[in-house]
Amino acid sequence: MKLFNAVLGATALAAVSLASVQVYAQGYPERQITMVVPFAAGGPTDTVARLVAESMSKDLGQQIVVENVGGAGGSLGAGRVAAAEADGYTVLLHHIGMATSATLYRKLAYDTLNAFEYVGLVTDVPMTIVARKDMEANDLKGLVDYAKANADKVTVANAGIGAASHLCGMLFMSAIQTPLVTVPYKGTGPAMTDLLGGQVDIMCDQTTNTTKQIQGGTIKAYAVTSPERLEIFKDLPTVKEAGLESMTVGIWHGIYTPKGTPAEINERLSKSLQGALKDPNITARFAELGTKPSPETDATPAALKAKLESEITRWKPIIEAAGQYAD
Ligand code: ASP
Repeated sequence: MKLFNAVLGATALAAVSLASVQVYAQGYPERQITMVVPFAAGGPTDTVARLVAESMSKDLGQQIVVENVGGAGGSLGAGRVAAAEADGYTVLLHHIGMATSATLYRKLAYDTLNAFEYVGLVTDVPMTIVARKDMEANDLKGLVDYAKANADKVTVANAGIGAASHLCGMLFMSAIQTPLVTVPYKGTGPAMTDLLGGQVDIMCDQTTNTTKQIQGGTIKAYAVTSPERLEIFKDLPTVKEAGLESMTVGIWHGIYTPKGTPAEINERLSKSLQGALKDPNITARFAELGTKPSPETDATPAALKAKLESEITRWKPIIEAAGQYAD
């Protein structure tokens, strides 16, 4: 009898909590949502997040406020969201670094595949190899020769181990078989300031951060990491054309919630994301920045989960071969 009551009690409790989750999800969102960007303000991830947050806010009828939590190549911000309340009011917009950090860090504050729920993919942004305006080299071959000849003093900016700029820099150094001096920042927004000022020599960063400066001639650009040339930079060769095919990479971005966030909430956010990705303002801004929204079918929890899993598997051996780890 005691056991029967206990079972009955547990079942009733489960029914009550399921009901409260459903009611909860129905009224969602009832207040402001925080979108954590794991890099500094003004950088490429921040740019994508602010555009998407603005459009999703209109659809959700509540403000999505971006909070920049930069540091440790994105893993500080990701850790913040992993530890947040699973109530749909804290979300994370992160990029490929979510997958590479899983191998790069010997210890992370969270278990990448078990600490999050999924909302959907946002965009896949090409990288550009760029340098300070007065860099001696005028093409990628010249830049490689210069880097090899000055390896002990050529500096490469990145947003910390696990950032896309770190991955791209690592691919560059592996491709030219020359280690260079890396300089970490909390995001490539502040790194760009130093590149413009000539305090750092080279950076590999998303077009969402470099387009304006390349077009304005305030930095030099050498190649794009997309498989095809970009509409906005017709004259810029792909890394494959310029002889560094192993640097071909796209920086995919996704939105996550903390583990345990109700499926209805993730679905609601996913629907809102799908709407945002069709917003003409976003399509136009993304095009100006050399990227485009992910297809609607990829802006789903299942697509992002599959992408994260396959990307962890894809990058693991490459990172292990490069032998770069962080504690
Ligand atoms: N996305 C950049 C990177 O990973 C960092 C940033 O957004 O500031 O290097």
